[in-house]
Amino acid sequence: MALIVQKYGGTSVGSAERIKNVANRVAKARAEGHDVVVVVSAMSGETNRLVALAHEMQDTPDPRELDVVLSTGEQVTIGLLAMALKNIGVAAKSYTGWQVALKTDTAHTKARIESIDDKKMRADLAAGRVVIVAGFQGISSEGDIATLGRGGSDTSAVALAAALNADECQIYTDVDGVYTTDPRMVPEAHRLDTITFEEMLELASLGSKVLQIRSVEFAGKYKVRLRVLSSLQDGSNGTLITFEEDDNMERAAVTGIATDKNQARINVRGVPDKPGVAYQILGAVADANIEVDMIIQNVGSEGTTDFSFTVPRGDYKATLSLLNDLKDSIGAADIDGDDTVCKVSVVGMGMRSHVGVAAKIFRTLAEESINIQMISTSEIKVSVLIDEKYMELAARVLHKAFELEK
Ligand code: ASP
Ligand code: MG
Repeated sequence: MALIVQKYGGTSVGSAERIKNVANRVAKARAEGHDVVVVVSAMSGETNRLVALAHEMQDTPDPRELDVVLSTGEQVTIGLLAMALKNIGVAAKSYTGWQVALKTDTAHTKARIESIDDKKMRADLAAGRVVIVAGFQGISSEGDIATLGRGGSDTSAVALAAALNADECQIYTDVDGVYTTDPRMVPEAHRLDTITFEEMLELASLGSKVLQIRSVEFAGKYKVRLRVLSSLQDGSNGTLITFEEDDNMERAAVTGIATDKNQARINVRGVPDKPGVAYQILGAVADANIEVDMIIQNVGSEGTTDFSFTVPRGDYKATLSLLNDLKDSIGAADIDGDDTVCKVSVVGMGMRSHVGVAAKIFRTLAEESINIQMISTSEIKVSVLIDEKYMELAARVLHKAFELEK
């Protein structure tokens, strides 16, 4: 008998029928003798619908109020799942984020979890009840409802698993594991039985849609055993995310390819080429709580230089406007950007021991006449920023070039 945290995403609870299926899966784990804590997302499409409604009220919805609205999606699914379980004779109780005291900071719409009180959950488990917790939400240090960022239910699940010291955290989604790349884009993509945390972190942060990055960070930090599986099909063990030290597999150079359209490029042109400029620009962006990803500064000519970086697409307009306000104090000649770009990343632990991976990427893209706008690398990753219209093509040719179909 084990303590298992199961998380079901929006597609898995996307209809009454699917919620009943989830109830059956939970009942099965109970029947096998496990204690189960379930975390659910809102029904698929619901959070987007709520975001759109909020934008009808305000161009930039008030973050506190936006969280009040967004958190309702998950409140619906926890209640429905509790009913579905009771209907098949399984004792269960639902809780919102604040009811289980999932405490966060005050960064509305992207709050970070600070602590979780497991008392209530433990009491329910001891009484033989399934505990159902609303994903994606908590209560801020100021007592307000706060959400954890899109896809945040994954993080809720892993955080609960860590707090409860669960034996396994199972993330049920609409794919049966982590793939070499998005199979909807590249039909030859295949499921990986295992992937290391380091790789998963790169793949998740690079926009692989399977898991929210914070959930992987959390799992790595607290050594949560994390598995991704399908809620829509049976008979697969999904993908287990392993710790590098436990993983002694012989690795190919490349494990997977991630694509990310949530990118926008900002160019700050003709800034004085002197110490402090990068800080002036990026410090202001960081102060606005906007995450900067890729950065390049060109070699200056005639005392000025161009500075480019990427931000999440949702922060594109805000970044442009805050930099335009600073244009004179920075001394920039021009500020512009492009929000029709995407990032394609090639990831693999094996890169540490294989040379020539970057060159092969550049050659492969060149053969398709795909222009590279920015490049960034780490020990186990090479990313390129390209025009979003070439995203699928790039993923396909790179997948082939690294023989990931095998
Ligand atoms: N419902 C939220 C979203 O759509 C959280 C989640 O699904 O994980 O982003
Ligand atoms: Mg999700």
